[in-house]
Amino acid sequence: MTSTVITQIPAPAHWIDGRPVPGDSGDIEVIDPATGRSFAAVPAGTAADVDAAVGAARKAFRGWAATDLAERVAVVRRIADELDHRSQEIAATITAELGSPIAESRIAQAGMPVALARAFADIAEDFPWEQRVGNSLVVREPLGVVGAITPWNFPLNQVMSKVAPGLLAGNTMVVKPSEITPLTARILAEAAATAGLPDGVLNIVHGVGAAVGAAITSHPDVDMVAFTGSTAVGKHVAASAADTVKRVSLELGGKSASVILEDADLPTAVAQSLASAWFNNGQVCAAWTRLLVPAARQSEVLDLLVTAAQHYHVGDPTDEATRLGPLVSEAQRRRVEAYVERGIADGATLVMGGPHRPEGLKTGAYIRPTIFADVDPDSVIAQDEIFGPVLSVIPYADEEQAVEIANNSVYGLHGAVFGRQDRALAVARRLRTGQVDVNGGQYNLLAPFGGYKQSGNGGREFGRFSLEENLETKAIQL
Ligand code: NDP
Repeated sequence: MTSTVITQIPAPAHWIDGRPVPGDSGDIEVIDPATGRSFAAVPAGTAADVDAAVGAARKAFRGWAATDLAERVAVVRRIADELDHRSQEIAATITAELGSPIAESRIAQAGMPVALARAFADIAEDFPWEQRVGNSLVVREPLGVVGAITPWNFPLNQVMSKVAPGLLAGNTMVVKPSEITPLTARILAEAAATAGLPDGVLNIVHGVGAAVGAAITSHPDVDMVAFTGSTAVGKHVAASAADTVKRVSLELGGKSASVILEDADLPTAVAQSLASAWFNNGQVCAAWTRLLVPAARQSEVLDLLVTAAQHYHVGDPTDEATRLGPLVSEAQRRRVEAYVERGIADGATLVMGGPHRPEGLKTGAYIRPTIFADVDPDSVIAQDEIFGPVLSVIPYADEEQAVEIANNSVYGLHGAVFGRQDRALAVARRLRTGQVDVNGGQYNLLAPFGGYKQSGNGGREFGRFSLEENLETKAIQL
């Protein structure tokens, strides 16, 4: 069955000071990666557009920062409700621009931002906005104008993970969504207007990172940059923001390990690990792309993996039965394909998949989901973030070596351990990574999310941790 939701796409425009503003430097086409066809466009923003948006945000800051918390909470809840009403449209739009399977888009791409906004609203109500510390009154205050720069893999959720805590903190925002998947930022802006958010509090400027992103990170009137994206670009962002001593929050890449211990429930561990590696077509920063298995059990694990992989039907992302759609773009398809070729050249065992398109899919950014075994933990495919459905199975001799291999990465974002609970927890404690799921522990919106090492710069998103990042702290001695 094919999804029938048709999206209505407005004329290309930024959103500045509460209204759509057309650009004057040409447009950037939005491509459906399943067909390669352009189906929408956004303006190619400039530094002047950023300047206008920052000006609007600065003007709105005093009023918004002075609102009661209850009012900010109510507005964010109304935004969530409005997005909930438009969830079918959001899911269809993201499937069209990103290629995520429609069934997944409904839950993860459209549902998660709504859940996130509601969770943040609850957290803000319980947050310790003021505390006594001895003779000091410690108060948390809005920070100012926040520039948010986001990637393409969860277009609305990445934006919401910055906008909801920012608004609740009393900040005003200038958002640059990825120009590859920019369309739901407009839906968010409209939802915010319908929800009664004052003009200028939330501004969207479209365009490429080198122009719009760079103008935000260097703007003297932006107080904080909240960035999610690759480690390479994150380094530029930090360097550019240093000149004006902005607060910088960096959520960067990952190469996470799922460690299967000797006493794990193998079928469960394998199914969950594969689901993590291939979720959102393998384009997830927290994906468990390295599967560490006891060497003596590798062939058993591979049999289970190949059986589980049969359920991942590759095809048209608007089809309800599809589990893997195209990658986000032809450029990404070529990049992932090059990694698969590199894995073969470097001597890993190709268990399934491989370079080239899946049979019957001659156009579109489709790639064959791929599993490698006997992967050298130091090899390129075990070290680089591939961002596609490519799983590397790495055998280990003993638990000590498993921990060593899991930590053998410049990244430290996420991970998993499967095995007897106490033993798995002990291994989880030894992983140098910001989150670890033990035996399939559930995703928790209230838990801090962020990375060790080059996966981040120490800050954490989600829960009260995001609010803290968006606030200044003042001590008043009494
Ligand atoms: P990029 O780092 O390429 O881009 C992220 C954003 O930064 C885009 O909006 C991009 O614009 C912009 N940008 C590019 N250059 C600059 C610049 N010089 N100054 C300011 N902004 C700039 O990441 P992708 O969009 O390719 O997303 C994939 C990456 O994101 C992966 O590495 C993934 O791990 C990471 N990611 C991290 C997450 C986390 O929470 N830790 C979550 C999800 C993804 P443009 O598109 O024009 O380049």
